[in-house]
Amino acid sequence: MGAEGEGGSVVIIVMQRGSSDDDIRRIEERLNQKGYKAQVSRGVERTVIGVVGRIIPELKDEMEVLSGVSEVLRVSKPYKLASREFKPESTIVKVGNVAIGSDQVVVMAGPCAVETEEQVISTAHAVKAAGASILRGGAFKPRTSPYSFRGHGVQGLRMLAKARAETGLPVITEVMSTEDVETVAEYADILQVGARNIQNYNLLDRVGRVQRPVLLKRGFSTTYEEWLLCAEYILAGGNNNVILCERGIRTFETGTRNTMDLCAIPVVKKLSHLPVIADPSHGTGKWYLVKPMSLAAIAAGAHGLEIEVHPNPDTAWSDGPQSLNFENFNSLMNDIRAVALALGRRMPEPAKTTASA
Ligand code: PEP
Ligand code: MN
Repeated sequence: MGAEGEGGSVVIIVMQRGSSDDDIRRIEERLNQKGYKAQVSRGVERTVIGVVGRIIPELKDEMEVLSGVSEVLRVSKPYKLASREFKPESTIVKVGNVAIGSDQVVVMAGPCAVETEEQVISTAHAVKAAGASILRGGAFKPRTSPYSFRGHGVQGLRMLAKARAETGLPVITEVMSTEDVETVAEYADILQVGARNIQNYNLLDRVGRVQRPVLLKRGFSTTYEEWLLCAEYILAGGNNNVILCERGIRTFETGTRNTMDLCAIPVVKKLSHLPVIADPSHGTGKWYLVKPMSLAAIAAGAHGLEIEVHPNPDTAWSDGPQSLNFENFNSLMNDIRAVALALGRRMPEPAKTTASA
């Protein structure tokens, strides 16, 4: 179901401090009877109920008088569940003991594409040893040319699962099509929706219905508002665990692969409660720009990073020019840690790998 209503016709019901569960349940029932979908958000300060459906003008008056209701507000933004108006507290997406959106700087690292078992497992050990908390790797690859390597599909997912079993690192991987969502969700801890698919609304609906966090990459030409409306699709489906990722946009500049929009990080954090991370690998397209832009992204307030790492970037099957080798990744992590600590953020110390998870 999409979040209906144009402009100001979207409402949130703000409950009184200390309103009872019964009050909230009664309101939910009433809304359901009227054909609305209620999204309850229990914050530390207050509980708010977002109303999804075509809003009739009388609804505001009707809800305002119910027991436990403090006020009924019209949300001015077209996105609603994604907005800070709806949920003032920042969302923290938990994946195992990793908390994305907290003061912890979370680094997701690994190859652009899963090539071989050895490649992905050796990379997983290396990024874990350097302090990364999540392993990335593409099994379903969106490629500009149909003749390029398009990923190993399910076989690639199995290699990722093996790398997770060996290192204990949770796994993020891209899902490109609605029919693959369930299979990818069986193997992955986080589903990635790529820049090219951000406005594939059927895919957004579908990942909104699975119980897996979703990393939503900004598209080449997606405005902040469009980006948050895409997140809204996933939230409206009932999946509250959405992470946003700035990965560069297309501008007149051709000196870098994309133009990394660092401004997006503080802007989107102001507009939305969702965690925001940065991907300087796709944002720049050049390995030697990945470190400076990573440092800048963390200084700008990004909750984490997604970085491409390869045992031998010169031979990578995709995105070699923007991939870091293990040594460069290690050096990046040391500098990130210094910036993170200087800003009062937390970052895991480099960990030793274990033989089994
Ligand atoms: C990727 O992460 O490998 C990828 C294809 O990213 P994007 O969708 O940002 O281009
Ligand atoms: Mn890539």
